Amino acid sequence: MRALGLYIHIPFCKRKCNYCDFYSLSCTQGAQISEYINSLSVQFKTQSHLFSDCVFDTVFLGGGTPSLLSPNDILRLFSAIRENFNIDDNAEISIEANPGTLNKEKLTTLRDAGVNRMSIGLQSYFDSELELLGRIHTLSDFERTFSLARSEGFDNINIDIMYALPNQKKADFLKTLDYVVEKSPEHISSYCLKIEKNTPFFKTVNPVSLPNEDTQYEMYIDMCDILSKSGYEQYEISNFSKMGKRCKHNMKYWLSQEYVSFGPGAHSYFNGERYSYSPNLHDYVSAIKDGKLPYAIIQESADIGENEKRDEYVMLKLRLCDGICEADFKNLFGISVAEAYPDIEKYIKSGHVLRYNGALRFSSKGFFVSNYILSDILFNN
Ligand code: SF4
Repeated sequence: MRALGLYIHIPFCKRKCNYCDFYSLSCTQGAQISEYINSLSVQFKTQSHLFSDCVFDTVFLGGGTPSLLSPNDILRLFSAIRENFNIDDNAEISIEANPGTLNKEKLTTLRDAGVNRMSIGLQSYFDSELELLGRIHTLSDFERTFSLARSEGFDNINIDIMYALPNQKKADFLKTLDYVVEKSPEHISSYCLKIEKNTPFFKTVNPVSLPNEDTQYEMYIDMCDILSKSGYEQYEISNFSKMGKRCKHNMKYWLSQEYVSFGPGAHSYFNGERYSYSPNLHDYVSAIKDGKLPYAIIQESADIGENEKRDEYVMLKLRLCDGICEADFKNLFGISVAEAYPDIEKYIKSGHVLRYNGALRFSSKGFFVSNYILSDILFNN
């Protein structure tokens, strides 16, 4: 059977964070969330036949804030998932959670529904930074949520943190990092703050208050070093895990494997086609009611030329610490990496790209400027 990933987007948050450009709406009304779960259930039923020969070995509830769902909605959602899709007995089933939205009853319900991985957004150790980011929680809310999740048996937890926040010093970020390491989660994701258009930060943050590039670089390099010494393998630009605890669902995205997503704004890759749903909850729910799916094909495999396939392969593989196996590349594309991308040599010489055991991969300093290097080697050849 074909193995697929299943992603469900829950487009609701208690309140929007000041830096967030994900598609989610501020919502405190349980009724609106329940209506959305009803719509998803209808869509699952309508589409389940498309996946009858597939098994889902990862399920990811993302958002938004999926931990806002009430216990009853969690049960309804998982029963709709299991009624309509073939979920592998050993599937990795993850949920994104925000401190302050979970209690013992919800955690028990999630565990009994089969959720076995939790990703908790901490972002910072400092309440002042959390307030600046517009987060709904404090450090003590996080403490309570994390302990409760552990005591309810969750033994595969990711903690999300951020760096390069306005007015943040390197020592501040390292305090957040030390705190997280002390908690010993199985996985840590650490993202550099980007000021995106259409967010409150775009209007309110003075660029001068952001750590300069040298400080950001030091934060990143120190982080990679500290996490490596603390037993975390860096397996992607922003992701670190204990042995065997890579996020299997996210690996599907980075390895260009198939996944099917539901919810407004959600993207899928299935049968050689990349498609997405309109990022508008009202349109999405209305279209399901009318029996029409708000579906847009982004790219069909037939439309992708050989060079684009090669570029995409390099972009995805170099995100991962495993990098590109040079022999695999030559087998796939009939040309060596150095012939296809001659500019890569200068980055090997400068130590931004490492060549060992027949593979090419970014070093930590290479990861820090990976966007720049990728655009140089891919688009200047
Ligand atoms: S909780 Fe997450 S999805 Fe919701 S607004 Fe904040 S960053 Fe965005």
